[in-house]
Amino acid sequence: MNDVMFKTPVQEIRLSDTADRMFIKRDDLMGFSFGGNKVRIAWEFFQDMKEKGCDCLVAYGSSRSNMCRALSNLCSRYGIPCYVLTPREDLVEEGTFNSWMVKWFGAHIRFCHKSNVAEGVDKLMAELKSKGYRPYYIFGDRYGKGNEKAAARAYCQAYRELLEYEEDHELHFDRIFLASGTGMTQGGLMAGQRQYGGHARITGISVARPSCRGKSEVARFAEVDPEDVDFEDGYVCGGYGLYDGDIESVIRMMMERFGIPLDPTYTGKAFSGMLKYLKARPHEPENILFIHTGGTPLYFDYLNAVWDRKQAAKEITNNRCTGQ
Ligand SMILES: *Cc1c(COP(=O)(O)O)cnc(C)c1O
Repeated sequence: MNDVMFKTPVQEIRLSDTADRMFIKRDDLMGFSFGGNKVRIAWEFFQDMKEKGCDCLVAYGSSRSNMCRALSNLCSRYGIPCYVLTPREDLVEEGTFNSWMVKWFGAHIRFCHKSNVAEGVDKLMAELKSKGYRPYYIFGDRYGKGNEKAAARAYCQAYRELLEYEEDHELHFDRIFLASGTGMTQGGLMAGQRQYGGHARITGISVARPSCRGKSEVARFAEVDPEDVDFEDGYVCGGYGLYDGDIESVIRMMMERFGIPLDPTYTGKAFSGMLKYLKARPHEPENILFIHTGGTPLYFDYLNAVWDRKQAAKEITNNRCTGQ
């Protein structure tokens, strides 16, 4: 696999109710494992693992995790044993498209408690060492610190692709928006801007965390002051994975009008949040870039859930008819 696999197009879309020009960096269209930010980041962890002479990968994530899918797919591709540590509290009993793929790729699943991930990491690392492996935990030490540079490298590179696009098309982006969770993606973009230049304001739309925590996490990856991080927590919609009718209608509109899948946990929430953010701040027309961070399997999970609801509604209607 090489860099060509990661290069993704920038697409302009025309939204009717705004004077801004709207562009989307289609990181969901990468040539490996459904793409997305986690494929870029997983690739950097994978290289870091090899550089450190390790021979077994330990991932951490929930049943919905795009990261665990991307990592376990890289492991299946290159024949590296893969272990996934999952917080029991976040287990989706019936499974998700990502969790089914993780199993399909042959990864081994281990559980821990969210309140004590460090202990879970220690236990698993000890187990793997006793088996003769040199395990690599993607986030570094037992507290998840130490591999920030590897994680940030992914979107530092992606930022350079954006600069190339700007040069080739003789335009510049005034703002960049993206879904921000752990902060690895936004932190990488900010590191790229520091390294390669540019003035776009980079705004992370939080998918879960309050601004105070979000800013300090992004800052850790970007190596900047938390005060310099633009992290917006006004569109969290009650918490991770939760969504409302506004998010759902944006998802519908984007798929129907442009054929672009968004999911309610990350990209749909962030895109909807971005539109509200811009609307709430009257401004001269700008060039806006949204980074589509992928997560296509979550779009299908969403479709499953919507379908279930539709089925349920239909059954109620049918019962009503037969009851007459
Ligand atoms: C993980 C994820 C994000 C958030 O990225 P972070 O680097 O964790 O901030 C956004 N979108 C999708 C689809 C993701 O899987």
